[in-house]
Amino acid sequence: MNLLQGHDTTCPHCWETIHLTLDLSVARQSYVEDCPVCCRPMLVSVGAADGELEDLQVESVD
Ligand SMILES: [Zn+2]
Repeated sequence: MNLLQGHDTTCPHCWETIHLTLDLSVARQSYVEDCPVCCRPMLVSVGAADGELEDLQVESVD
């Protein structure tokens, strides 16, 4: 079972649609990733249960 799943979301800085690859084998995680469009950092928070995405939040990091 592949628990890496691609999801589209919106960058909190430039509002461009960006594509994230999420590891749904971890119940709850957050990490900082740079936006591929504007290169500014954003905090990605992922919640998963049984390999399904439950919660995805992206916040700006200054
Ligand atoms: Zn951006």
